[in-house]
Amino acid sequence: MISFEEAFKKVISNARILGIKQLSVDKALGYILAEDIKAERDMPPFNKSAMDGYAVRSADLDLVPARLKCRGIIKAGGQFRKGIKKGECIKIMTGSPLPKGTDSVVMVEYTKKENNNRVKILRALKKYENVCFKGEDVQRGSVVLKKGTLVRGPEVAIASGTGRKKVKVFKKPSAAILNTGDEIIEPGNKLGPANIYNSNGPMLLSLLNALGIETNYLGIAGDTKEKLKKAVRQGLKSDIFLLSGGVSAGDYDLAPDILKSCGVKRVFHKVSIKPGKPVFFGTKQDRLIFGVPGNPVSTYLVFLLLIKPTIEKMSGRQAGLFIRRGRLMQDFKQRPGRKHFVPAKAVDKAGKLCVFPVKGYHGSADMASVSRANAFMIIDGRFSFLKKGSRVEVVEW
Ligand code: AMP
Ligand code: MG
Repeated sequence: MISFEEAFKKVISNARILGIKQLSVDKALGYILAEDIKAERDMPPFNKSAMDGYAVRSADLDLVPARLKCRGIIKAGGQFRKGIKKGECIKIMTGSPLPKGTDSVVMVEYTKKENNNRVKILRALKKYENVCFKGEDVQRGSVVLKKGTLVRGPEVAIASGTGRKKVKVFKKPSAAILNTGDEIIEPGNKLGPANIYNSNGPMLLSLLNALGIETNYLGIAGDTKEKLKKAVRQGLKSDIFLLSGGVSAGDYDLAPDILKSCGVKRVFHKVSIKPGKPVFFGTKQDRLIFGVPGNPVSTYLVFLLLIKPTIEKMSGRQAGLFIRRGRLMQDFKQRPGRKHFVPAKAVDKAGKLCVFPVKGYHGSADMASVSRANAFMIIDGRFSFLKKGSRVEVVEW
């Protein structure tokens, strides 16, 4: 049985980047940029007013109050080409280009309109006050977004602000989900006395949806070789195939053999983690196959620890697990053995991460305890006891 660290390395080293595609900027959220984006012009493209007010020559305001002649109004998107002379001003809106001759903007609050297009300016101001300079935000030709950047709201705005309609991004993998188990019934249907509802399928589907990837949901295959084989062939068409259940050591845990007969090369089967030990990982050409143990906590844990980082790497992101250190807030006992992932509440208090294992957690089917947590605390399998105050690591979600 391999360690978690070895398993993680093997999975990540098999995850490859899938290539590049062009997307409309407004569809690129959640993707990783596959190109540098350069500014095609300065931002702002001209000296502009930062306020609604009057564009003036500051030298005219050496003595205030001063009376200036107003030459009209520049709306946003408008221009005043003629230029402003000594003793004149012009009404200007935020974002409009400053006309020739002017060097500052008086806020409308410090002015008073009088008859005959006269404006009384009540306060003096410094040269360049309330002016944004050409190129002060972005210089033409500079890289505004680097290749490898995750596209979020601000990045959509920046790319659009440079005039781009499309951007190159790294493709994301497609994923198929198949549930096994003759006892498993889809929610919404009637249960027999020995049935349970499918919780892994909907959970995996929603987690994949949240990563914005294309999914193929294959339902429940049951535990007969024929049905399973047919469904597995379907699943192997996606870049990533997630098979829930059927990878343990029971008489009906058929998945590893079926996968083998469908041409899947086993990379590992069983990892020294608790829960999730029976996890299977294999490849078929460039496709990656995960067999996840059916207990929902195991499924969730394997998704967080192995599947999500794999998807992220294939999508062009830096692959890794974000592990934080914190302090255990109560004594903790366990049976030594595998690396233990314990649902816990991790809370930042005065700059310290305080870790409270969830009370009453009783193993890999206990999703209710996981729902009260926001992290898995990671406890080395060598320990049987950890004292309150010990340093522990956590993976949060
Ligand atoms: P298995 O990995 O197939 O041995 O299943 C381990 C345990 O998880 C059994 O108690 C199953 O009934 C349960 N289980 C398997 N698949 C699912 C599923 N899709 N949703 C909820 N529980 C499941
Ligand atoms: Mg089963």
